[in-house]
Amino acid sequence: MDPFVDTLQRLREAFVSGRTRPAEFRAAQLKGLSRFLQENKQLLQEALAQDLHKSAFEAELSEISISQNEINLALRNLRAWMKDEKVSKNLATQLDSAFIRKEPFGLVLILSPWNYPLNLSLGPLVGALAAGNCVVLKPSEISKSTEKVLAEVLPRYLDQSCFAVVLGGPQETGRLLEHKFDYIFFTGNPQVGKIIMTAAAKHLTPITLELGGKNPCYVDDNCDPQTVANRVAFFRCFNAGQTCVAPDYVLCSPEMQARLVPALQSAITRFYGDDPQSSPNLGRIISEKHFQRLRGLLSFGRVVIGGQSDESDLYIAPTVLVDVQETDPVMQEEIFGPILPIVNVRSLGQAIDFINRREKPLALYAFSNNSQVVKRVLAQTSSGGFCGNDGFMHLTLASLPFGGVGSSGMGNYHGKFSFDTFSHHRACLLRPPGLEKIYAIRYPPHTPRNLRVLLMALETRSCSCTLL
Ligand code: NAD
Repeated sequence: MDPFVDTLQRLREAFVSGRTRPAEFRAAQLKGLSRFLQENKQLLQEALAQDLHKSAFEAELSEISISQNEINLALRNLRAWMKDEKVSKNLATQLDSAFIRKEPFGLVLILSPWNYPLNLSLGPLVGALAAGNCVVLKPSEISKSTEKVLAEVLPRYLDQSCFAVVLGGPQETGRLLEHKFDYIFFTGNPQVGKIIMTAAAKHLTPITLELGGKNPCYVDDNCDPQTVANRVAFFRCFNAGQTCVAPDYVLCSPEMQARLVPALQSAITRFYGDDPQSSPNLGRIISEKHFQRLRGLLSFGRVVIGGQSDESDLYIAPTVLVDVQETDPVMQEEIFGPILPIVNVRSLGQAIDFINRREKPLALYAFSNNSQVVKRVLAQTSSGGFCGNDGFMHLTLASLPFGGVGSSGMGNYHGKFSFDTFSHHRACLLRPPGLEKIYAIRYPPHTPRNLRVLLMALETRSCSCTLL
């Protein structure tokens, strides 16, 4: 017995009925999402604290308010985003109406991870609902408390004929993916991304893959070590390092390393005290499995800061490793914890080569007082996003697309990009039924003169003439 059949059929019927298409309906769903956040703020904060020991500060900043901002932006711009987009025409279509219609795909599946279990469920959901789709949300089974709130409370705020939360781990998701969806939006690790893409290929379903990887952080000799240390330590340890865009490792000269290590120690002590384990501001590792994986990574290179761990509390101390080899596992896999290896390079050119020899990252950071250095890193590398002289501040801008490139993902979202991701861009041309005499030059018998006229009429140019 397939547990998903009835739900999927209900949603498909709702989509076919057309009820999700009017702007009023979409706005009502977005307002429902907004009420869900406002009325359940404490419940959500508690759930995030249970799952990840997330502080109220981090929960507000990176889960609740960021989702609220996306909703507010979509509500303010919904009608403008939905409008047909007029396009330029050639001479042959001057009397026609040419436009792009943004139409919903239909039934959308959103698969979300555990590290920002609210934000990474609601963020895509805002785009999918704004674009007029029916949605199945499958939150991560690992972040159990948040999963429970999303499954039990969220649906009460939305039209349940058009929206459903389904639960399960890899096995159940595998069965879910046997069904045909009209769009799949996946956030998670690249290995699972391949499974999702393979399943989507069976139905030729379009997808967005928001994946992860190792995000390099180049630190130039010409910069203030304390400022850099504050920023790198903060973004490395935010959510206990379990952030897809966190700086994963530092590339710098041995001289800069000697100045950076005491500065990192100073920043970590200021942020989390002498005993970070007792700090209310430091999160915990999500599971025993990830804790063991991270503890294993502590044995590579030389620990110069931190290094402590406590299994009973899933605690890993903010840690800095030096003398790390390129071939060490800590440099082979995404760390996804509060561990920062420093790898030495002799020059900017060597740092750029190091970055370019690896998979394209989701984010890339470069610190320097010299803007030419930052610009050179930007120009000579590729990554999903880039931020000069800070951590992942670029993703706070809904005006920037958020997504990876190469093995860090495909497609993007946030703000209007979300709306566009969840909309099919339909190419439309409406022609007058008459004027057959003029259009007849297309038909045989062909002549060289007709060909000349046609080629001129079909030429692509931005033509503002109103005649023919
Ligand atoms: P994950 O890939 O294990 O899980 C993501 C989702 O896929 C979950 O809902 C899970 O139930 C499902 N899933 C897991 N295994 C599956 C399988 N075999 N078949 C079908 N479905 C399966 O990812 P995670 O561990 O929850 O999250 C961490 C990863 O996500 C990291 O690699 C991180 O970089 C990445 N990430 C990326 C972004 C981004 O925006 N690019 C954001 C957050 C996390």
